[in-house]
Amino acid sequence: MHQVVDPDLMGIPPLMNLNYQSPLRLRLDRAALLSNYRWLGERCGQAACGAAIKANGYGLGAREVMAHLAGAGCRDFFVATWAEALDVQDGLGEAVGLSVLHGVRPEDMRIALASPARPVLNSAEQIARWKEAGGGPCDVMIDTGMNRLGLSLSDLDFSLLDGLEIDTLMSHLVAAEEEHYLNDVQLMLFGDIARRVTAKRYSLANSAGICRGEKFLFDLARPGLALYGGIAHPECEGNIRPVATPQAEILQRRTVRGGESVGYGATFVADRTMETATINLGYADGYARILSGAGTALKDEARLPVIGRVSMDLVTIDVTERPDLKEGDWVDIDYDLSFTALLTGLSQYELLTGLGQRFDRYWV
Ligand SMILES: *Cc1c(COP(=O)(O)O)cnc(C)c1O
Repeated sequence: MHQVVDPDLMGIPPLMNLNYQSPLRLRLDRAALLSNYRWLGERCGQAACGAAIKANGYGLGAREVMAHLAGAGCRDFFVATWAEALDVQDGLGEAVGLSVLHGVRPEDMRIALASPARPVLNSAEQIARWKEAGGGPCDVMIDTGMNRLGLSLSDLDFSLLDGLEIDTLMSHLVAAEEEHYLNDVQLMLFGDIARRVTAKRYSLANSAGICRGEKFLFDLARPGLALYGGIAHPECEGNIRPVATPQAEILQRRTVRGGESVGYGATFVADRTMETATINLGYADGYARILSGAGTALKDEARLPVIGRVSMDLVTIDVTERPDLKEGDWVDIDYDLSFTALLTGLSQYELLTGLGQRFDRYWV
């Protein structure tokens, strides 16, 4: 056995080289993304509106999201890790900031010191590490109730922050999407900290936090979900537009007779002769298996129910009412985020970030 490798092809992703077109696409609506950004920006008033683009821009593609939003005036971006920073940082324009929410581990320091991105320092250890390296501008996260990442308020030693060049001091809301007593507690605690710690800017609100009103805004907001079409708060309803639509190609059309079953486990049995289409989408692409017998594909005005189990790479839909659909045609997948979240029990965040690597992501 030996493999033949054309040296000209090395280093270039093979699929790109072959100009491969996936039978699975994610249609991304730039106008909707920008409209969501403008709506959030208006709600931000005097405060700046940044963008969380972690997890590959919530599955949509961090580089493209960053380019579109930077074009619309967004100047502050947030990723989780240094790998994510490396992925987007060469696209950073003049006066555009990038913050790495998870801060710096020892393993990150070499990359962090060479990067234009700022770490969000979360612990005494990270602060010491950054100071010792003479790291320059940074952000600092204060934990006002999440008990997740950030300096704890209870044992916060303010002298720890001496000598840091803090760009943005931030905290993160626990339950901004609901009426929860912690919203006001966190607001009060963060307001108090903001008076005592010198930073260029202060930032508390995520998408839902922006909808909670002006006092949550401080200098800079950090929306993610609502930018990408998520209904982060009831106020988003009717104002936030969907951005991502999965689209799958029909691989085969067939006639199923009454009494025959469809898919694994024979969970669907036809009660009459019907027409089905098998489409190129499955749970490995993030289309949750719990949508078996519950999801819907769309073609023009027609709603085409998912029948039988969702497989790893395939889904079967009922196309009886669309005799014109054939192999090679495309259908949209109903992926309304709040409805699909209700249907699946998954969060809107999981629905977006779960969309896998096999989609051709394209912007219109
Ligand atoms: C993910 C994240 C955000 C964005 O939150 P959304 O709910 O998606 O708007 C903001 N700030 C921090 C610290 C985050 O981790």
